[in-house]
Amino acid sequence: MVFAVKYGDEHCLPFRSLIGLLTGDSASPGLWNVFFADFRLREHPDDVRLHGHAVSQAEQADDNIIMSTSFSTLQAKVNQFFDWCTGKRVFVSASKSKWMIFGPLPHIIPTLRLGNLIVELVSEFKYVGVWLTSITANVFSRHYAASAAKARNASNAVFAMKHRVGSLPVKEGLQLYMARVDCYLISAAEISIDVDAHLIEEHLDAQHLFLRRLLGINSRSMLAVLFTETGVMPIRIRRLLLALSRLQYMVHLGDERRVRWALLDSVDLFRAGHPSWAGDIAILLRALPTPIRIAPGDYLSIPAIEAITKKVVEAVDADLQFDINFLRKTHLLRNRLEYVEESETLSLVTRRRRHYLTMTLIPAHRIALTRLLLSDHNLSVERLRYRTRYRLPIPREERLCRLCRRAVEDEVHATLDCDAHPPLVALRATFLHDIFECDPALKAQYAILSHYDFLCRMVSSRKGVTRLAKYACDVLALFDSFERFIPAGYEVVR
Ligand SMILES: [Zn+2]
Repeated sequence: MVFAVKYGDEHCLPFRSLIGLLTGDSASPGLWNVFFADFRLREHPDDVRLHGHAVSQAEQADDNIIMSTSFSTLQAKVNQFFDWCTGKRVFVSASKSKWMIFGPLPHIIPTLRLGNLIVELVSEFKYVGVWLTSITANVFSRHYAASAAKARNASNAVFAMKHRVGSLPVKEGLQLYMARVDCYLISAAEISIDVDAHLIEEHLDAQHLFLRRLLGINSRSMLAVLFTETGVMPIRIRRLLLALSRLQYMVHLGDERRVRWALLDSVDLFRAGHPSWAGDIAILLRALPTPIRIAPGDYLSIPAIEAITKKVVEAVDADLQFDINFLRKTHLLRNRLEYVEESETLSLVTRRRRHYLTMTLIPAHRIALTRLLLSDHNLSVERLRYRTRYRLPIPREERLCRLCRRAVEDEVHATLDCDAHPPLVALRATFLHDIFECDPALKAQYAILSHYDFLCRMVSSRKGVTRLAKYACDVLALFDSFERFIPAGYEVVR
């Protein structure tokens, strides 16, 4: 069809629409808004009130909501809408329209009509991309489940590529994560605050699973390293930060905007001690590892919101850093200095996409080094830590090297200490020769540093890390080719 717009005596040039009515055209939202601008429902004492203002309608282009606190008023408003549409020659589909009851159901369920047609009563409906549910304690419960399922499907699709294109590099994997998975995990984060922990569980699982698969570590690995090594923010905190960002936006709005009325109303409820969006944010802030208090007045102050946002990030990073500093498995990740562009200094950075993940291009080498650094490898220091069906946990000092049985089989012993197996010694000699060529500064440090410190230093070397990753892969494979030494006396008696 060909269309033209007339305004006063002027006509625009004709234009074509090839996809039916103009609902999909770029001009249509604006034209529709002009067309729809005089639709105003009459105020009624039963109207929903936000900070004293009656609000009974909301529109997103041609998706409309009409609301009231009583059925008779709702029916009267729907009638007014139907009459307005009839006068404007707009067809409203009764079959596509639905209605919902929030709160206790009446003894006799009334029938809503649009003209002569009955409108179906439903318990859940998707409006502007968000599922609303009237029969669960949390109105967003269906939305949580739906968005988690989409995130999971997107995640599976990303990793299904492995069979076609090989292992996914970390940088590209994180780009795909942000583009195709994160968007579902943050869906509706600004309006549905995660106070019901069980509803957000699947989101957490989806994020953890993606990052573990990307890094190539096992499904029970520590959580902190997923974020410290990739720079990704834990999803629960990311959603809270998005809600705080939306709060900042709302504070900036003028007093004529309904969203601002909603904010003020929510703060009123919080101040009075009633459940509310603002109150839910306060609950999450109090539940942080370092609790943050927020007063009703803070919700309307940009400096206060900015300060709280900064504190949230600091609290999360401090918590992650605490894990890195004190968990036994993260000993190789401590005291790492990273270049910080803003201050042009070397400092401790808790969350960052680490260089060893992106600079090592061969997947097997990258995964081997990642596992070595994150204590997710097969050396006995880790594998004998836990009880199995037929064996008790073995004390650290007895988790001896399978090759020499003279020292604990840990990362440093396997890579730099053990000299009982000639092929390993030869492998190490070649490796050291190569890495000293890659990064000559390492040669002097090899002579003065302890082997532990030298391993950490090699990890930090941008010039040598690729060669180190290959060596890690070779060493772990060599150890895997020998049977592990299990000391006597730890068998479970059956
Ligand atoms: Zn040994």
